[in-house]
Parts: sequence; C-alpha cells; structure tokens
Amino acid sequence: MHGLSLSINRRTLLSDIHLELQSGQVTVLIGPNGAGKSTLFRCIAGEMKHEGELRLFGRSRTNWHKRELARRLAVLPQQSSLMFPFLAHEVVAMGRIPHDTLNRENERLVEACMRRANVWHLKDAAYPRLSGGEKQRVHFARVLAQLAGEPEQQLLLLDEPTSALDLGQQHGLLKEARALAAEGTAVLVIVHDLNLAARYGDHLVLMRDGRIDCTGTPELVLTPERVEKHFGYRAQLLQSPDGHAVLV
Ligand code: ADP
Ligand code: MG
Repeated sequence: MHGLSLSINRRTLLSDIHLELQSGQVTVLIGPNGAGKSTLFRCIAGEMKHEGELRLFGRSRTNWHKRELARRLAVLPQQSSLMFPFLAHEVVAMGRIPHDTLNRENERLVEACMRRANVWHLKDAAYPRLSGGEKQRVHFARVLAQLAGEPEQQLLLLDEPTSALDLGQQHGLLKEARALAAEGTAVLVIVHDLNLAARYGDHLVLMRDGRIDCTGTPELVLTPERVEKHFGYRAQLLQSPDGHAVLV
C-alpha cells in the first residue's frame, strides 16, 4: 500500500497509509475502536474505493481477475452473516469455489482445514446452531480451505478472528496463523488483546484515526506510555518467567 487514503462524506477514514506485508510474517494490526482497521481490510479486499496505490503480489489490485485473486487472497471479515441451514463442512467447502480441483481433493482439503481450525468434530452440525466461537472457527477453516493446495504466494487477512474464542482456542487459532506464515503466507491479523499481539506478531502496526501511528517489533510498539496514549489505560509491563513481556 502506498499513499492509501479514503474519505466518505468529507470524513477521512484512511489517510496516507504506507504498508508492506512480507510473506512468512505475521503482521498484527492494533488500534482503538474506529481507528480504520476494518476499513483498511475492506480496501485490500476490493470492497471500497480509495486513493493511492494498492499492489498485491507485484500487480496493481485493479488488474487482478477476481477468481485468480481469490486463490491467493482470503479475507475473514469481522462479522459473517450466514443464515441458511448449511452444515459446517458445507460452509468450509465454499472456500473451494475459486478452485478447479476435483471433489475428492476438495473433501480432503476441507477435512485437513477443519482439523487445523479444530472444528472437524462439528462437520455435520447445522451451522446456524453453532456457538459464536464455533462459527468463527468454521469461517477460519473456510479461509484456510480457500488458500489450501496453491503453490503461489498468498495473503490471509483475519479481522478479529479470536473475538469470540475461549483462551485455548485463541492460542490455537493464532498458532495456526503462525504455522501458515511459516509455510510462506503473509498474514495480517487484527486483534485487541495486546498480549496476543505481542506473542504472535513478528511485526505490529498501530493505527489511530485512519493513520498508521507506529510500526515495529512488539517491544518497540507496546510501551506502557504508548498504550496509555492510544487506549487510555495505564498498563504495567511485566516479564513472564519464560521471557515474554506481559502487559497487565
Ligand atoms: P475499526 O478500527 O474499529 O475496525 P472501522 O474501520 O470499522 O474501525 O471504522 C473506522 C471509522 O470509519 C468508524 O468511525 C466508522 O464509523 C467509519 N466508517 C466505516 N465504514 C464507513 C462507511 N461505509 N461510511 C461512513 N463511515 C464509515
Ligand atoms: Mg473493525
């Protein structure tokens, strides 16, 4: 992204965003409510008109064919509204729509991705009856399935993927995001829990009022002074026995 800006009704939602995402890295986007994080995601997803340059895998976003890009860019939105009584594995199988792979291969990938998202045991459950956290993990499996089995460079965007998850599932999902990065995917994830951000992010990007305020390693970005300035909460910085910095 180079000089990305977006205004609606004379209100600036994004202002002069410069950001480069690296394959193999987890970049965590943090910032207070209303900072413009989801809006930035919608620009990358091609859902909002903006000024400035947005290139994906070396090519301008506007020059990508939808179906071709869908095999390389997957987006997990903050909210997914899906009311039809699909079974969980059918929701995940929707991730295979952009691909020409055979049914048997699709079934194999759906199972592998549902296992990675820890929802394989829910495969025959009616999606609308699942809990909020279970639904969220089914959608995570769906975006995993969308990117599965492609050798090309890929980008995965996750907008608050842990917001409805219990503690163990939060770590489980972010470990999977790290594993995907280790396989070569560029991952951009929005989380509100700064300790999760510090633990799983190679790189943090702090947004405020539509601008990038600060980027860098977790140690650099998450100082108690900066946290207080942007989130209005005076946190203490502690050291965990295994060497992690912890904000409480
Ligand atoms: P967050 O960082 O919490 O994800 P958002 O990107 O969702 O924030 O929203 C940033 C700001 O932009 C909010 O104040 C929101 O009300 C506003 N906004 C988002 N989308 C639109 C839109 N389509 N029209 C007008 N304002 C919008
Ligand atoms: Mg948001």
